[in-house]
Amino acid sequence: MPGSTAKARVRAAPRGRERGPSAARAVATRAPKVGFVSLGCPKALVDSERILTQLRAEGYEVSPTYEAADVVVVNTCGFIDAAVDESLDAIGEALEHNGKVIVTGCLGAKPERILARHPRVLKVTGPHAYEDVVNAVHEHLPPRHEPFFDLLPPQGVRLTPRHYAYLKIAEGCNNKCSFCIIPDMRGRLASRRIDEVLREAERLAAAGVKELLVISQDTSAYGADLRYARGEWRGSSYETRFLDLARGLAQLGIWVRLHYVYPYPHVDAVIPFMAERRILPYLDIPFQHGSATVLKRMRRPAHAENTLARLRAWRAVCPDLTLRSTFIVGFPGETASEFQELLDWLDEAQLDRVGCFKYSPVEGAAANALPGHVPPAVQEERFARFMERAAAISTQRLAARVGKRMRVLVDSVTDDGAAIARSAADAPQIDGVVRIAAGQKNIARLKVGDWADVEIVASDSYDLTGRLTL
Ligand code: SF4
Repeated sequence: MPGSTAKARVRAAPRGRERGPSAARAVATRAPKVGFVSLGCPKALVDSERILTQLRAEGYEVSPTYEAADVVVVNTCGFIDAAVDESLDAIGEALEHNGKVIVTGCLGAKPERILARHPRVLKVTGPHAYEDVVNAVHEHLPPRHEPFFDLLPPQGVRLTPRHYAYLKIAEGCNNKCSFCIIPDMRGRLASRRIDEVLREAERLAAAGVKELLVISQDTSAYGADLRYARGEWRGSSYETRFLDLARGLAQLGIWVRLHYVYPYPHVDAVIPFMAERRILPYLDIPFQHGSATVLKRMRRPAHAENTLARLRAWRAVCPDLTLRSTFIVGFPGETASEFQELLDWLDEAQLDRVGCFKYSPVEGAAANALPGHVPPAVQEERFARFMERAAAISTQRLAARVGKRMRVLVDSVTDDGAAIARSAADAPQIDGVVRIAAGQKNIARLKVGDWADVEIVASDSYDLTGRLTL
């Protein structure tokens, strides 16, 4: 970044992506870009890394220059007068070169000092308040939402609590699903090296994170672009590949949840880790459909795999494996019998958690040219039937948990003294919750991010109710 000070650390945007014929479209739909200046001590640096990790996970890019950024975050230091001056100068520089500036960090504890000199800053937040910084970025530069392939919930992450964090292991994708333009927008698979990922996970765990959500566009393909390069971590050698990632993350002793995994044969090897509870027995697999002919038209990865047989084999090894997925109904050319195949597949697969989209064209996607676009009224009707079937399965599977004891992680405590928590089977923001009613012994002690042990006493279509056992 021009003029940044010697102490400033600035993250550059990833480079080296190929620019194809769709570059113009990529510019039109480009990811929102954040510039970042980080000043101060190692603790401030960890905060900066946490903020950047979250923003990257939400699809923001990090700009190497002020000019290319849509907004700039300055993480300040206020330890001694020289550091205050340096921070105020950095804010002034960002305002001069960009104009849209959010300030955080130690100097943020004295907002009047910042605003007296720089009244144009958009927002000032205090030290270690990365939730507030991320929310300020959302407010002034909303994340882009692409319904079929966003990695995070459509409503965005409004507040990112300290007890869980997204761990992005790769960008881009080598697949060519016909409804998707991610490979055009974000390029081919670009994995982060295993040692870098494991070090970041270790830092997050040391900072108090109790649950890591591993995300990428195709987590099962992790490392293929790096030819599974080796890296050292904690004195052992790991390959940059899916199984070693699970093996390494299992060492951290916190919840590790895998998202966006495809049902390839090599995924089988991770199921015993789940059975041993070294990582959560949870897989998020975007199946998208159950009809082989529709999956072929979608050009889905692993479309030729016998997924039902694979799910049966996984459950034989790990009976309480939770399976989550998303589906698209009304894909171009979807016939009534293909839709029925999907419902039959769902009945057999007995997935625990299911989301569904009605197909809609994405500018530049190959599926737009397919014949037989399904009329909106038919899409609507299929969507309702699909969701009804999925809800019935979910209701039944949750009812089977009544009477069981489980450990849950508290996400929030309500004003009336109840707690909202999640079990190993619930990813934040997209799955259900475990409600713990107010008035129970010891509930007043529960705080956000605490573990609690509960017995499940009731269930409905999506959520459970638990009673504290300790
Ligand atoms: S796997 Fe398919 S849907 Fe997912 S990002 Fe890659 S091309 Fe898009």
